Amino acid sequence: MGSQTILAIDQGTTSSRAILFSQMGEVLSVEQKELELFFPHKGWVEQNPEAIWNDVLECCTQIIKLPTQSTALQSPVAIGITNQRETTIVWDRKTGKPIYNAIVWQDRRTAEKCNSLKEQGHEPTVTSKTGLLLDPYFSATKIAWILDNVSGARARAESGELAFGTVDSYLLWKLTDGEVHATDVTNASRTMLYNIVDQKWDEELLTLFNIPTAVLPEVKDNITLFGSTSKNVLGVEVPIGGMAGDQQAALIGQGCFSPGMAKSTYGTGCFALMNIGQTFKQSKNRLLTTIAYRINGEMTYAIEGSIFVAGAAIQWLRDGLGLFDDASESEAIANSVTDNNEVYFVPAFTGLGAPYWRPDAKALIMGLSRESNRAHIVRAALEAQAYQTLDLMESMEIDSGYRSEILRVDGGLVANEFVCQFLADMLNVTIELPKVTETTAWGAAVLAGVHAGLFRNIEDVADAWVAHQCYWPKLSEAERQRLYSGWKRAVGMLIKQ
Ligand code: ADP
Repeated sequence: MGSQTILAIDQGTTSSRAILFSQMGEVLSVEQKELELFFPHKGWVEQNPEAIWNDVLECCTQIIKLPTQSTALQSPVAIGITNQRETTIVWDRKTGKPIYNAIVWQDRRTAEKCNSLKEQGHEPTVTSKTGLLLDPYFSATKIAWILDNVSGARARAESGELAFGTVDSYLLWKLTDGEVHATDVTNASRTMLYNIVDQKWDEELLTLFNIPTAVLPEVKDNITLFGSTSKNVLGVEVPIGGMAGDQQAALIGQGCFSPGMAKSTYGTGCFALMNIGQTFKQSKNRLLTTIAYRINGEMTYAIEGSIFVAGAAIQWLRDGLGLFDDASESEAIANSVTDNNEVYFVPAFTGLGAPYWRPDAKALIMGLSRESNRAHIVRAALEAQAYQTLDLMESMEIDSGYRSEILRVDGGLVANEFVCQFLADMLNVTIELPKVTETTAWGAAVLAGVHAGLFRNIEDVADAWVAHQCYWPKLSEAERQRLYSGWKRAVGMLIKQ
């Protein structure tokens, strides 16, 4: 293996990072900048696109300017980009200036618009074409909002003066100094305008959401020459050979290239994606179908489910109840008792997601007795990570027809061994933790690395994937069923409310 390096740009909701990887997946250097979120009104969430760009530029410049021992003054051979998905930016093609702040994926300002489209009966069409649900989360209604609320924007958009892009697309434009207006299929699949079955921007959807075709980026495979960085911008010309939205990049970074393989990322919330192969399947449990990746023109789909509150429940025990000072203490506290003593914690702080879909549900702690103490509550919160995942995986299995024997996990919470073991026990599968823990950034690096010829193809990357740690199920089936039925009883109480 040579000493060539790949630079991954990981532009997330709360921070922007640039990570320099060796071909083996070692992290050689990292630069990171925290990113500010603005909340101008209830339910609105915005970011300054120029701040996003400046942060990314600064991180990349630092890495390229400050060679480490292993990079020995060589520029990276390729750049890969991964990004927060759905976040919407509209900019002026001439000046490159955004005409409004970035509207972040979390923003709910178009909820009424989505509800009225749902009431008019449009959701089945939207879902059959995009795999998504009619929700403000996705870009379509955010773009229309900008065009309708920034003075003169709609006319300028129609005459071709404006460009729309998700963050990947905006960064690509900036890195190439305005040369390239393109996105990749995974990011396109989150706009609610891209037909993931026919693989094109969908005219019927563009009409429904009132979006002029002239604003749209070109849609490309995940591995291709998206463009090269301009010398004016980075000082060096480096090919940008790979792009993918963050969850898809994590799926790739986790080497989930065969149907039935799944990954689950446990951060503040949890995102699970299962590779379902080359045939589009619509969920019957209100999960999303999305594009996993398209390589050499060959499409692979995924089913995606999210758990709204994962690590956030641990944060709440720390900050809301003051049960400990640091999230990592939760493991020893949970292990200080032998079982949950019938205590269940359903952390539905922001409603219940798949497969229940009760947006108004509230959290619940059930089964308290005089013997209950803080350890039982902490243990119940950690156990909830596995019960919620089991609920999600059962829906995924029904939708996909695949039963996964392995779940690859990542994110801050998997530092907790109790959680990993309990996931193995409840899901009755092997839980695998990767050697390369920066799975999202590594996914982007892998795509760019294949393009640059550092890896022959993704099969090679899949073969090279190494587990750092594995957890195997130890619980008896009877005990598993007993625990899960307790969880189901707790959720049942919420649903009855
Ligand atoms: P995000 O990317 O969403 O900011 P991270 O992947 O950094 O999240 O994970 C942070 C989350 O994981 C926090 O909610 C924190 O409470 C939780 N967490 C981190 N370490 C542990 C641990 N050892 N045990 C339990 N929870 C943990």
